[in-house]
Amino acid sequence: MTELRTLKVALLGCGNVGAQVARILLDDAEMLASRAGARLELAGIAVRNLDAPRDVELPRGLFTTDAETLVKDADLVIELMGGIEPARTLILTAMRNGACVVTGNKALVAKDGPTLHEEADKAGVQLSYEAAVAGAIPILRPIRDSLSGDRISRVLGIVNGTTNFILDQMDSTGAQFADALAEAQRLGYAEADPTADVEGHDAASKAAILASLSFHTRFSLDDVYCEGISSVTAADIAAAKDAGFVIKLLAIAEKLGPAAGTEKDTETADGDTGVSVRVHPTLLPREHPLAAVHGAFNAVFVEAENAGELMFYGQGAGGKPTASAVMGDLISAARSIVLGGPGRAETTTGHVVALPITSAVTSYYIGLDVADQPGVLAKIARLFAEHGVSIEIMRQTIHRDADSNIESAELRIVTHRASEAALAATVEAVKGLDVINSVTSVLRVEGV
Ligand code: NAP
Repeated sequence: MTELRTLKVALLGCGNVGAQVARILLDDAEMLASRAGARLELAGIAVRNLDAPRDVELPRGLFTTDAETLVKDADLVIELMGGIEPARTLILTAMRNGACVVTGNKALVAKDGPTLHEEADKAGVQLSYEAAVAGAIPILRPIRDSLSGDRISRVLGIVNGTTNFILDQMDSTGAQFADALAEAQRLGYAEADPTADVEGHDAASKAAILASLSFHTRFSLDDVYCEGISSVTAADIAAAKDAGFVIKLLAIAEKLGPAAGTEKDTETADGDTGVSVRVHPTLLPREHPLAAVHGAFNAVFVEAENAGELMFYGQGAGGKPTASAVMGDLISAARSIVLGGPGRAETTTGHVVALPITSAVTSYYIGLDVADQPGVLAKIARLFAEHGVSIEIMRQTIHRDADSNIESAELRIVTHRASEAALAATVEAVKGLDVINSVTSVLRVEGV
């Protein structure tokens, strides 16, 4: 048997994910060599604190605080430190020195993907980041490679386990947001500062990455409209449930316009051409496949012209699951070095623009507290019609205040799909009607 060559691997970071990657590199060296066609030698692990306890027992001699020197001598660099700097500089240095890079850093890829890709192209090396979106779930490679002969029209993703856990908890127990968040923190699903998760920022980074690969155009975080879940109430969840819906935080990337399959000529309802990339709480029919994604699990639902509907489901975070995605990228990069050449990079020939949220075409769920008097429903229905928004479902529930004996009505409306601009204008106009006491909730609906 011919002697396999050895490739030097530099690991940056030894936290939740990095420690598991180091373990696999050391424990499964023979298996990895047979799959990669080269021996993968863990040359060193860069950390901040040499004395910090690790999840896995690893030889002390592998650790260093000098990440710059470590990357300069590596064939393959795995960045699992997180944050923008020094991760960005180390990745650029590694690629300029000819190393292939694997990272799980969604924040960095979403913020500065174009620079990283340009440097990878210039250096002729592979840059891959399967772990950056939905942890263990193979989703970027299927979109980039397996579906490269198809046209993706829409991607809907539950890509943040923390928010899915919280919304699922609210749905199954009737809890308020604050109580469900506290439970998520107690169980370790949410961080002490949960802002990045609950305000949708983490999902927005992933939406930018999913949109870029799905529509062959580089989108950044600035192109993503983002709303989190902190204002979703127990009453919203209960009303949605009552109407046959579940509320999920979705990352959505969809091509808009009448000819959503054609690369050049797509037009939105108002004549724009492009892709809507957004993150917001969304009502989904309870029979939609994504409605069955519970707890901290992730799933991505892809619609493509020829493949039809595809669903990718699994663990979106955690040391071992995420390390699995990192190892897949590492083997692919190692093979590209063994065979020569960087392999197939992502393509950016789509040239579609990111559209503002006003161009999105969606349905709305609107909750209204209205006066209980004759003619109210007709007034509201007329106003919707004047704005070109048609109503799919309208339900009324009467409440009587025990103290004052005054009756009020709660009205729940689900609209057909219309432009976001028309829907927003309708809600504004509804607020001005004298029969409206308050607009209790406005949420977008998908999957109907
Ligand atoms: P983590 O547990 O916080 O570990 C970070 C590691 O990086 C630590 O070992 C830390 O060293 C090291 N580090 C940080 N700054 C450094 C610096 N300036 N110089 C040298 N070392 C430095 O992070 P993680 O959860 O493993 O996540 C790693 C990456 O994977 C992030 O980009 C994250 O977004 C991504 N990711 C994570 C998950 C997940 O489930 N955790 C899922 C998908 C993607 P010390 O230990 O010495 O402090």
